[in-house]
Amino acid sequence: MQSLPVAPSPPLPPETGPAAARHAPATWQRELAAAIRDPAELCALLALDADSAATARAAMGGFPLLVPRGFAARMRPGDPRDPLLLQVLPAAAEQIPAAGFTADPLDEAATLAAPGLLRKYPGRGLLLAAGGCAVNCRYCFRREFPYAENGVTQAGLAAAVEAVAGDETLTEVILSGGDPLLLDDARLADLVGRLEAIPHLRRLRIHSRLPVVLPARVTDALVATLAATRLTTVVVIHANHAQELDATVEHATRRMAAAPALLLNQAVLLAGVNDSLAAQRALAERLVEIGVMPYYLHLLDRVAGAAHFEVAAERAIALHRGLRESLPGYAVPRLVRARPGARAKEWIQ
Ligand SMILES: *Cc1c(COP(=O)(O)O)cnc(C)c1O
Ligand code: SF4
Repeated sequence: MQSLPVAPSPPLPPETGPAAARHAPATWQRELAAAIRDPAELCALLALDADSAATARAAMGGFPLLVPRGFAARMRPGDPRDPLLLQVLPAAAEQIPAAGFTADPLDEAATLAAPGLLRKYPGRGLLLAAGGCAVNCRYCFRREFPYAENGVTQAGLAAAVEAVAGDETLTEVILSGGDPLLLDDARLADLVGRLEAIPHLRRLRIHSRLPVVLPARVTDALVATLAATRLTTVVVIHANHAQELDATVEHATRRMAAAPALLLNQAVLLAGVNDSLAAQRALAERLVEIGVMPYYLHLLDRVAGAAHFEVAAERAIALHRGLRESLPGYAVPRLVRARPGARAKEWIQ
């Protein structure tokens, strides 16, 4: 599959209609526009040496650095091994080919039911609602996904909603991407409105890292949209380390929970970032503290450029056993792995 670089600045779809003229960009949109894109700037901000910046710039390839300033502010200055920094700073290891690591490890191109609709598991369809993200995670399995070719456009979105309407076996739509919360409030409300008009749909799920990396995205209007829909709403956030979950994130999760929405977290097990019992326990406990249930702990998808993040399955299983033996059952995420062609994510024991 051809790899298209993900846009460095997530393309905010051009505003149309009378609302566009009335509204200045929201706070979160300004924060996104001001996100850090230059490795030298991030390294200087964190008092890291110029070598780190040069290495990072050389390692970016077609997947640029992108980090909101609020997220960078949660990193520890002077620490090149900071668990948040490692998730976003391009590493030289990305450029080293590794056997078994490919551009489309989940064969997602094969599960497109319509432009912008991935149809892999019974009952739920995954709608690619936006192409970019507010942060570029180096381990991301969609880092090579050619969004533009696969319906992540307004026309593609309309076709995907049509496809959902035409498939009565679907009871749940998952808004994903990229990051679906990059849609602005008006577009999101419009999309939710079109989905809730489909009688066979019962649940709306949103998979987004924005409440963590750019919590200002959780606007009054977003909370109002979650509150107003007839659909049961589930918001799955994505945090990998307790250090990501500061008071601004807690404020965002609590507001969504009050909407109401059920809040879950998915994390990826990442070597050097969160592959210790202490890190996983702290993450689970902090999530519960901010009203978010740990849902999935994913083994890394084997995407090209991410081999240095891989944790061997045996070690993952041992870690997970340690979690089960030290946390209440509800705080233990399911350890899972995605397999191309399977009817569900595989639970690993
Ligand atoms: C992960 C995923 C889902 C959701 O699976 P759940 O087990 O319900 O969380 C749905 N569709 C696709 C394509 C996915 O990758
Ligand atoms: S992991 Fe999520 S937020 Fe990060 S780049 Fe991938 S899709 Fe975007």
